[in-house]
Amino acid sequence: MGQSIMLLRYSIASALLFIMASTGQASTISIPSYDVSTTGIDSNPFQVSVIQDASRALTIDEIASGRIEGTLTSSRFYLKSTDVNYWFVFTLENTSSQSVNRVIRFDEPFTEHASLYYRQGESWHELSAGLAVPIKERRVYNRNPVFPVRLDPGETKTVYLKLQSNYGRLTIGLYCEKPEIFLNWELLQTACYLFYFGAASALIIYNLFLFFALNERLYLYYVLHGLSYIVWVFLYSGFDLYLGIGKNLHYGLNPVTNFVLIFLILFTRRLLQTEVNFPNIDKILIGIAIAALLLGIASFSDIYYYQYLTFLGLSAYLFFMFLGVYAVLKRVTLSGYYLLSMVLYFSGIILLALLLMDLVNYSLFARYLYMPGSLAELTIFSLALAYRVKLLQNQNTAFQQQLIETERKAKARLEAQVAERTEELRQANVKLERMAMKDGLTGLANRRFLDERLRYEWQRLKREQGVLAVILCDIDYFKRFNDYYGHQGGDECLIKVAQAIQSSLQRPGDLCGRYGGEEFLILLPNTDIQGAAITAERIRSAVEALRIKHLESDIAAYVTLSLGVATASPHEGRSAEHLVSVADEALYRAKDQGRNQVVLMSPRPKVEKFPPSHGSATATVSRGGGASYS
Ligand code: GH3
Ligand code: MG
Ligand code: MG
Repeated sequence: MGQSIMLLRYSIASALLFIMASTGQASTISIPSYDVSTTGIDSNPFQVSVIQDASRALTIDEIASGRIEGTLTSSRFYLKSTDVNYWFVFTLENTSSQSVNRVIRFDEPFTEHASLYYRQGESWHELSAGLAVPIKERRVYNRNPVFPVRLDPGETKTVYLKLQSNYGRLTIGLYCEKPEIFLNWELLQTACYLFYFGAASALIIYNLFLFFALNERLYLYYVLHGLSYIVWVFLYSGFDLYLGIGKNLHYGLNPVTNFVLIFLILFTRRLLQTEVNFPNIDKILIGIAIAALLLGIASFSDIYYYQYLTFLGLSAYLFFMFLGVYAVLKRVTLSGYYLLSMVLYFSGIILLALLLMDLVNYSLFARYLYMPGSLAELTIFSLALAYRVKLLQNQNTAFQQQLIETERKAKARLEAQVAERTEELRQANVKLERMAMKDGLTGLANRRFLDERLRYEWQRLKREQGVLAVILCDIDYFKRFNDYYGHQGGDECLIKVAQAIQSSLQRPGDLCGRYGGEEFLILLPNTDIQGAAITAERIRSAVEALRIKHLESDIAAYVTLSLGVATASPHEGRSAEHLVSVADEALYRAKDQGRNQVVLMSPRPKVEKFPPSHGSATATVSRGGGASYS
């Protein structure tokens, strides 16, 4: 309100002045005068006379004619209007007897035109700066408009400064200093700026590497936000002019600074997970980002719109502050970092924004706090992101531990299953082995096993020089038994006979097996012919004692057995097979001699009688019931 009244007043005053100028009516200009023989202008701000030329057509001659009266203003002034030429006038006096050099300068780089005039004889001496003048064409190579002025002993100079800006809403200060004061200030400022650019770049590069390492967009947004901020400071401070960037490109680059806001919004959304945590706030954030983008496009086409960034920025940062507090209250992860960061960042930005809106008085603090503020913001965000790496790591470790635990459990389960299966397999194997060794009907050793054991015992006794006895038994008239009692009856008989044979064996090393249909082979390791004969007889009588009815037998009313016995000393004898064939031969003889008897034979075709009798080849141990060996 106050400003618009002021603007109105200025406009009316300018119009009146212009009318006065054109009607040729003269009046006195009150121009402040300063003695600069020992220092610059000490008081700051100091008073200057100002003329606002709304026509933007007044020449230096018209301004200096004294017909247009200026008003007094402070050397720190607020340029609100972009379509007015401002003329600042003041007088410098050198009362000393030496000539003095002084620097007159503006402290902001973004004026379009900044020119200084003073009279030199009959003509005007003009020095030009401002964005319209490339930096290397300026009298002093500086991003800000800087003008050297020399005063001879006793000289008085009235200086006229013309100013026009295409940026609305900015505060600018005018200084008149000794050159060394200006140089010191310039050095300090440049050092501060370079420190800022260096530190901010380091943080950005660090996070760029984090982005490469983690491939997480959050880090990219941080980098882009920081980068746009640096670009903005670079342009805002006028350092870009040192790179030879001309007026048009400088204006053109300005909207890029809207990306500071856009990337901060993207960063905020991702850091605080607003899409999930606060869907409504998320929509507002997107709205602000779109507004920033549109404003960016508008200011790209006309720099006039750039001034509205101040309003958008101010309200957006207020909103971020609110969001920070809200997120902290809702205990969102990393929201504490966010809020702290925003507070520091915001305090700098808000002061600058208020300054640009002429709502606070100018001070170095208000003007430059945004730089340490932004550094603090970048640092705290960077800490938050580093801390986030730790959180991710913790999450990862927990996940890994869970994975290891799951794996361990799965492994244990698998091992138990394997052990179970192995045991089952082992049992199945044992069963199979047993099945392979056993005769299915009688449960005695089968033929295969008998053959194996026979070979094994033969070899063993060969080494030990022992003897091996074999008994081959065959049920008498079994075919008839089968025919009469049926196959089933035959099988039952076979089982009983097998049991009787098995129970007749006394030594653990003895082995009895089913050799063929109704034939049984008994292996008796380390048993001599007498021992074998006794065993054979025991078997014979055991079967006889079963009294299994056999009505078809020619020799008894019950099942009987014929047995052939043979012994050999393997180290002398020919082969195990031969031994069995001898036993078979003995069996054949037993059959031949009337069945139900034991016949002994030695492997050599020497037939022994048992009990020995006059040269007979066979020995009948027992026959029928009763008769026994003695
Ligand atoms: P011998 O007194 O001369 O030994 O007369 P045999 O009838 O016993 O002689 P042979 O060897 O000719 O007959 C054997 C019979 O044994 C033939 C078959 O009917 C019977 N047999 C063989 N294996 C089995 C079997 O597993 N089960 C049954 N039930 N009978 C069998
Ligand atoms: Mg037979
Ligand atoms: Mg038989």
